[in-house]
Amino acid sequence: MANIDKRQSEGKKGGGSAKIVALANQKGGVGKSTTAMNLSSALAVSGKRVLLIDADPQGNASSGLGVDSRGQEHHLYHCLIGEASTDNAICSIADHECFDLVPTHIDLIGAEIELVSAANREYFLGKALRTVKDKYDYIFIDCPPSLGLLTINALTAADSVIIPMQCEYFALEGLSQLVRTIRLVKNSFNKKLIIEGLLLTMFDRRNRLTFQVAKEVREHFQGTVYDIVIPRNVRLSESPSHGQPVLTYAPGSVGAVSYLNLAKEFLKKQKA
Ligand code: ADP
Ligand code: MG
Repeated sequence: MANIDKRQSEGKKGGGSAKIVALANQKGGVGKSTTAMNLSSALAVSGKRVLLIDADPQGNASSGLGVDSRGQEHHLYHCLIGEASTDNAICSIADHECFDLVPTHIDLIGAEIELVSAANREYFLGKALRTVKDKYDYIFIDCPPSLGLLTINALTAADSVIIPMQCEYFALEGLSQLVRTIRLVKNSFNKKLIIEGLLLTMFDRRNRLTFQVAKEVREHFQGTVYDIVIPRNVRLSESPSHGQPVLTYAPGSVGAVSYLNLAKEFLKKQKA
């Protein structure tokens, strides 16, 4: 109840404009969508006003939160091409005080192609978010597993980027390419962009390689890596098929507690 009161009073203040955070890694299956859904949910439960943008045409975050974009009149595609305002595409997520989603649709692949020949093609998402920025504390963008125009738009719109990575042998391999892309976007389109943090996901305590990879990543990226690691947890992989974030599907699970702890570390970093 205290959280709800806090959120409402923050809401009344109008409280400035949202920090925009992209979740990016061109590798698939590293935990981008899982982190997008569950970090957003954990922050909303902590009293923050959160909007999640599903920028992956595969729509894992949309379906994982119980939103069937086929039933929606508008989704991110319409916002990007200027056919709808972002307000009109927002859906609220069940059992959360202030957690909203702009769902995606497979048509978003078309938007990526249409944008290629457009002037200022890197800025479309940032423009689409302008009208909703004042209503939230945080806007997360779940990126597709590529470094194409949708990811570039997300990085151009964002204040910072979280890089989820799976603790496996090839984890570091694509990372230098991703860091180069982030630098390129920073230099060319978005001076304020920073790396918010690297997040080690699917950590498996029974696997020695996991510890070794985690150690290497920490040595290489030092203070940029979150202290919290997300363990492999079956509730995290089950909850999307029930259309719920893990916090409502299995509140006491290791997965739920881990994302609540990540939310705490994330918020602490905002104050530092
Ligand atoms: P990405 O968005 O980077 O492609 P996902 O978040 O969709 O990755 O994760 C890939 C798969 O791994 C999904 O089936 C997801 O449910 C599962 N998964 C992600 N994180 C965990 C975890 N910590 N424990 C168990 N399964 C996980
Ligand atoms: Mg995904």
